[in-house]
Amino acid sequence: MPTEKMTQTYTGRFAPSPTGPLHMGSLVAAMASYLDAKAHDGRWLLRMEDLDFDRNVKGAGQHIIHSLQRCGMHWDGDITWQSQRQHLYEAALKKLGGNLYPCACSRKEIADSRLRLGEAASQIYPGTCRYGLAHGKIARALRLRVPDCTYEFHDRLVGRQTQNVAREVGDFVLKRADGFWAYQLAVVVDDAGQGISHVVRGADLIDSTARQICLQTLLGLPTPAYLHVPVVTNADGEKLSKQTGALAFDRGDNDILHEALIPAAQFLALYPPASFSNIEEFWQWATLAWKNKLDNTTILRESANA
Ligand code: GLU
Repeated sequence: MPTEKMTQTYTGRFAPSPTGPLHMGSLVAAMASYLDAKAHDGRWLLRMEDLDFDRNVKGAGQHIIHSLQRCGMHWDGDITWQSQRQHLYEAALKKLGGNLYPCACSRKEIADSRLRLGEAASQIYPGTCRYGLAHGKIARALRLRVPDCTYEFHDRLVGRQTQNVAREVGDFVLKRADGFWAYQLAVVVDDAGQGISHVVRGADLIDSTARQICLQTLLGLPTPAYLHVPVVTNADGEKLSKQTGALAFDRGDNDILHEALIPAAQFLALYPPASFSNIEEFWQWATLAWKNKLDNTTILRESANA
């Protein structure tokens, strides 16, 4: 039975960026990835994506760790911090060799050429430096020369997705002008390095998945299964920010259940009862509810067992 194979090999992860405290949006992503791992008797890893040294907030990583502990979410193995794995991103960059090129474009120059290309091209890098830097220009970032082909994957929730990265995104940055590693490179290297078989995360990242598959292909790395859960928004339909949506995780278990865990489970359409006697009972119930969802939702079941 395919489920048996799955249960032995499942490794999932939660990969927050420590740019602020855990909020309802990140808790939903954490909960979905945790429940999916538990429902498959899999491992669940915690990885701090702390590569954006400008956006990192001091103490936010520890705050997130504490919040997950207060929620009764237990990760397997040691926590990994991307800032300690930079040699791995350097090695991947070396491997990509001729697929990379230096880019001198500033944000403003890219925005200006997009304007010239019209609305449809507003998200696409115009390829200005692809065939060499213009005279007198100084390299700022490193970009990937993206092959002109369509990448396809099955999202376990929304189904088949396709994107021609070259045409819809353009050559993307792997090392930024500020010297920091780009999320796309680090996430691909780490998902493969940590043996992640299943990625469960917010739908705001679904547009990044084809870029990640493109990199996996060029680096000869496996592609995990993907599930993107809906993103929590505020009343104006905007994604919650870590600044505005912070949840209190330093109060009693009852508050955590009613202000965090039960609403997050409701958002994931798990239909929780109004109360639980303790946090462990919540997780037992939620794991079973997620399992039932897997069993009863064709699209989730089919691609999870693929
Ligand atoms: N670090 C990313 C974030 O906090 C998530 C990355 C991922 O799950 O791939 O939005």
